[in-house]
Amino acid sequence: MKPIHGEDTIVALATAAGTAAIAVIRLSGPKAIAIADKIFIPKKGKNKSLSSSESHKLYFGTIEENGKLIDEVLLSLMKAPQSYTGEDTVEISCHGSAFIQQKILQLCCESGARLAGPGEFTMRAFLNRKMDLSQAEAVADLIASDSAITHQLALKQMRGGFSFEIKMLRQKLIHLASLIELELDFGEEDVEFASRHDLKEVVVKLLTIIEELIKSFELGNIIKKGIPVVIVGKPNAGKSTLLNALLNDNRAIVSETPGTTRDTIEEEITLEGIKFRFIDTAGLRETKDEIEMIGVAKAFEKMQDSPVILYLFDAVVSKSDDLNQELLKLKSELNEKVRIIPVGNKIDMVSMAPIENKFTSIENLFLISAKEKTNIDKLRSYLLSLYGSGKIEANTSIVTSARHAEALKNTFDDLLRVHNGLIKNISSDLIATDLRQALTHLGEITGEISTDDLLENIFSKFCIGK
Ligand code: GDP
Repeated sequence: MKPIHGEDTIVALATAAGTAAIAVIRLSGPKAIAIADKIFIPKKGKNKSLSSSESHKLYFGTIEENGKLIDEVLLSLMKAPQSYTGEDTVEISCHGSAFIQQKILQLCCESGARLAGPGEFTMRAFLNRKMDLSQAEAVADLIASDSAITHQLALKQMRGGFSFEIKMLRQKLIHLASLIELELDFGEEDVEFASRHDLKEVVVKLLTIIEELIKSFELGNIIKKGIPVVIVGKPNAGKSTLLNALLNDNRAIVSETPGTTRDTIEEEITLEGIKFRFIDTAGLRETKDEIEMIGVAKAFEKMQDSPVILYLFDAVVSKSDDLNQELLKLKSELNEKVRIIPVGNKIDMVSMAPIENKFTSIENLFLISAKEKTNIDKLRSYLLSLYGSGKIEANTSIVTSARHAEALKNTFDDLLRVHNGLIKNISSDLIATDLRQALTHLGEITGEISTDDLLENIFSKFCIGK
């Protein structure tokens, strides 16, 4: 297959900038091999050009500038179309000095390459149909993945798991749409190629699958961004101390004056491959202090977005009835999906039995000492049981991109209109219009339908060299 994109040959540093043991410089495009030939002298067969050398082999040699040695390098040769971009590609592994990296980049540019923009290699891979758009996006996710779960999800997506499902759905839709379009071609004649009953059945099936995918985004999104866990409670309940205990360091400032944590503090921690974002908020209390009011308002904002709230209270001084009231009030103020976990603190100051007796009416209660780190492990295990790796089955598709979720929602709405149209027996041309819309929205996910703006938007978020 002839590459369809890239008149230019692009070059970039593929490894991180700065000094390292080794750096990799990547060249891709129609002149990649000719450019490499100009600056690289192979150790074996000095006069043998790379264009006449075997592809997918490593070549040892030197990079020289006007006869002056710059570095000894290993060069890998990947001739089109068997390369990441689908174009002729050369990767030069040199010593990782910033000087050498810059020198080789400069030599490549002087020999006819230009510096690549962000994500340009992957964009070429997409345009040369090496991968579809959602797979290309997964490449960026894979590079950014910082926990076992985000890595697993990105890898699965890059290998096409979720795209495959979308393509199958789209094929079914195309089939439906073409039958309806065929009916329209026959105009006045009262023909019906697509059995309305079968149509309805397929649309319902699609709606169910798409709904599942949309739902999966809730989990996918929090996994990708980290699961927010908000710690709230009255001033001095021990929120900052608990955050420190969970994090095992001293990031939050612990103070004995109530209300010192005025803003929210966020800390990320990866537990068994799952990223949690613990958020310490300003104390919850009625206040007239303006700055503190902002803090309390922020706490509410954070709580609404969080699937889990640790409601921390001083187990020594709190009364069970008051606590019940507070929990009920909080529950009524928040979205019903938010899970509130009551956590009684400072149990190191009293004996356990009377405290347990005092709070028998509180469900799912955790009793801890943030200061002494008592039962912190239990709390961690509980959080993991809610979101641990067991929650993600190997064969379920999880949508992690907001862009995909949006396209799926649009498809869902289009298909719902098709479904309602079929029930009401509306005219075929209206049904065909909604089907076409649904096809467009689905196609946006994998890139069958794309605009320059969309591609620009997606690939500009990549790093240079990828
Ligand atoms: P915040 O206002 O809710 O963030 O509370 P802090 O974390 O600043 O703690 C307030 C005070 O309670 C500090 O003096 C802490 O040392 C103390 N404290 C926090 N947790 C515990 C605990 O488990 N046991 C005891 N005895 N004191 C604690």
